[in-house]
Amino acid sequence: MTKFLLSLNLAVKESLVIALDEFSFIDTIKQSMYKQSSLLKGIGDDAAVIGSIEQELVISKDMFVENVHFAKHTMKSYDIGYKALAANLSDMAAMGAKPAYYLVAISIPNDWPISEVYSIFQGMRDLADKFEIDLIGGDTVSGKELVISITIIGYGQKDRIRYRSLAREGDIVFVTGTLGDSQAGLYILNTPGNYRDSSYFINRHQQPIPRVEFALELMRLSRFSLNDISDGIASEANEIAEASNVTLVLKEENIPVHLAFQQFDSELQYKWKLFGGEDFELIGTVPREDWGTVQSVADKMNVKVTPIGYVTQKQESGFVLLQNRQNTVQRLDKKGFNHLSR
Ligand code: ADP
Ligand code: MG
Repeated sequence: MTKFLLSLNLAVKESLVIALDEFSFIDTIKQSMYKQSSLLKGIGDDAAVIGSIEQELVISKDMFVENVHFAKHTMKSYDIGYKALAANLSDMAAMGAKPAYYLVAISIPNDWPISEVYSIFQGMRDLADKFEIDLIGGDTVSGKELVISITIIGYGQKDRIRYRSLAREGDIVFVTGTLGDSQAGLYILNTPGNYRDSSYFINRHQQPIPRVEFALELMRLSRFSLNDISDGIASEANEIAEASNVTLVLKEENIPVHLAFQQFDSELQYKWKLFGGEDFELIGTVPREDWGTVQSVADKMNVKVTPIGYVTQKQESGFVLLQNRQNTVQRLDKKGFNHLSR
């Protein structure tokens, strides 16, 4: 009983600490103007209100916990906010949706200076401005760890949502950008040494670019499947294959990496490009006849796209098969390899 009262007291005290500043805090993070015309009420009432428009609503949520998803010594406060929102924007890109709104729930430990918390919100704000999305609500509490949870809301066109289940036999598999960069950046941050292009890799880790505009430019294509690379291509390719009930055959040597990637140990390269997450690039499958469109859109948007394989009917041997330089084929599971007997 005593124990219960004690913890209850603590909880009350913690919420009071926040309550003292909560209103000026919210006033500071609140936008003075909103960009989205469908917004009827933003921050300042019990809930935000969005007017209805004739499009599909696409909604997603992500959570970021200190020392699980990021650490203070590798991420500035600004980057924590930036990257948290980038991850949410990347989910919108992967659905082919146009992001419009976001809400932020944050738990703030008492030892985090309020100026650092504002930096987190500044990181989000700068990225939000680029994509013209509005912060329309959230919640602010104190807690033992820094936890940020973002909800993002976007609009998708009818029959143009890019579900994972839309891969079909004969499609070309492609990825944007280069893979493994984020993990290389994290490695550089944690392992002092002399590296080529270190600021490139570190930037890819701290401030990834979600491929929203690229996905929206592909609106003219009637069907293709898309997934964003948050957990590594092995995992994302498996998700597409399972949802579509097909097999993806990938060529290892075609998986694109940055020029200076070769400076790292070959085992690390292998691990990062296949299983390293957080590049926030896109993997997709398109009908062969649409590949030219994908390439020309990519050229126009200055985004690198690379064909890395093809879709075939579901194989007994697995959902994702990786073919290496020696033409041996391995099953590529979400988190590792499974050597095939043949
Ligand atoms: P209530 O008590 O009705 O839940 P709050 O005092 O929690 O309201 O919040 C007041 C307003 O500030 C609401 O519009 C809420 O969405 C917004 N808000 C609170 N915390 C945040 C935050 N971290 N980010 C964005 N908006 C927030
Ligand atoms: Mg509230």
